[in-house]
Amino acid sequence: MHYIGRFAPSPTGLLHFGSLLAALASYLDARSNRGTWLLRIEDLDPPREHAGASDSFPRTLEAFGLQWDGEITLQSQRLGLYQEILEQLIQQQDVYRCNCSRKQLQLRSGGLPYDGHCQQHPPNHDSPAAYRIRTADQNNTFQDRIQGIQHYNLATDCGDYVIRRKDNLFAYQLAVVVDDHLQQISHVVRGCDLLTETPKQLYLQQLLGYATPSYAHIPVAANAAGQKLSKQTYATALDLSRPVPQLLTALEFLDQSPDPALSDARVDDILQWAIEHWNIDAIPGLPAKEIAPESTCDN
Ligand code: GLU
Ligand code: ZN
Repeated sequence: MHYIGRFAPSPTGLLHFGSLLAALASYLDARSNRGTWLLRIEDLDPPREHAGASDSFPRTLEAFGLQWDGEITLQSQRLGLYQEILEQLIQQQDVYRCNCSRKQLQLRSGGLPYDGHCQQHPPNHDSPAAYRIRTADQNNTFQDRIQGIQHYNLATDCGDYVIRRKDNLFAYQLAVVVDDHLQQISHVVRGCDLLTETPKQLYLQQLLGYATPSYAHIPVAANAAGQKLSKQTYATALDLSRPVPQLLTALEFLDQSPDPALSDARVDDILQWAIEHWNIDAIPGLPAKEIAPESTCDN
């Protein structure tokens, strides 16, 4: 099987050190396996988009020597594909409509997975509604290349999750599964913040008869206050004028023990060294408590 990997940032902010870790790890894993590496921009949520972010991604990756293969994919141009798959899931009766407000959800479930209210009380046909996947009380596992075996219960850890929001925007879960399938992604390497989202993606793959890629979730970087670095916590954007020290710090963070002599090297030489020495087994897994599932049941 040919290795196809990807980096899939959302344009909710500029790329930061945490994004560099995900980009670099997925790039090195692909290149050390003589694989293809794709760039997919996950611009599904215009209200949360940061002006100029999408345009800055290719420039930023190029400054760090991370050259992708082929055309850049924009999810905003693939809405028809997601609609087709939504219709398939409706046909298969794997989804139901939900018009609960954020406030009702908060009152009834208090951050736990959705309680299934609208399955018993279907909303009127003319009222705006989200679509939720009907999950089953199913214990399951998957093997993560870095985090090891993951145990979960689909109903209690994920619950009936949203794949299209009440405002008609497609949710990340649906688009990521459809695109990973259509782009024939064989290996997903991404941040550990998405470890708890993976069971939802595996279930959708199962419902749609898609193959499941191999997953590796790298540790995510935290700031000095111990918060996960994200575009929302205003992690500092990468500095395009000095990629070398940031690349070396990223390699250290990924436990790749970069050769000290590399501090005088050029970006391309650093990447060449890193491809040759890439060792995903050196990356430590998280203690299990840090990956306890969080509820992500937003409408
Ligand atoms: N677009 C997602 C994010 O930026 C990542 C998607 C993925 O790697 O599966 O958090
Ligand atoms: Zn509901």
